[in-house]
Amino acid sequence: MFIDSEKQLRIIGTQINYYFICKTKLWLFSHHIQMEQESDLVSLGKLLHSKSYKDEKEYTIDNLISVDFIKKQDCLELHEVKKSSKMEKAHEYQLLYYMYYLKEKKGIKNIKGIINYPKMRKKVMIDLNESKEKELNTIIGDIDNLINSDIPKSERTKICRKCAYFEFCWV
Ligand code: SF4
Repeated sequence: MFIDSEKQLRIIGTQINYYFICKTKLWLFSHHIQMEQESDLVSLGKLLHSKSYKDEKEYTIDNLISVDFIKKQDCLELHEVKKSSKMEKAHEYQLLYYMYYLKEKKGIKNIKGIINYPKMRKKVMIDLNESKEKELNTIIGDIDNLINSDIPKSERTKICRKCAYFEFCWV
């Protein structure tokens, strides 16, 4: 299964990220309930990218997905730059989804994902394989079920304080 609706594709990368972060956040975002245009964390991420990789350009593909930078080595490398690895799984699956998109929609098979954590001098290599594709499809199905159900109960975690929906959930 590959979701083919442009509208769904437009938000799916972010949805996959939120799926690993918080289901309430995923539900609110998917129902277009947005509390702010840009969080401090997003601004920080942009600053980090411009300082650490000032010669690299951000890429937007099909006006749908956006990657911090791309390199053409013996394969196509998609790079994301992140502040910390606390949400590594969310970063990994969002990047996997972009790789999946390029494979399915553009026919690019020789592709690697790399998550860069410049502050930690760490790089994580991401490979898209058959089992990851199956997992992605399961996640996409779960997201669909979740957003077509009632809003999930908020569960307070360490990330709530920095979340755009904090007031919505907890004040
Ligand atoms: S404040 Fe916490 S529970 Fe509410 S959406 Fe954000 S992360 Fe989820």
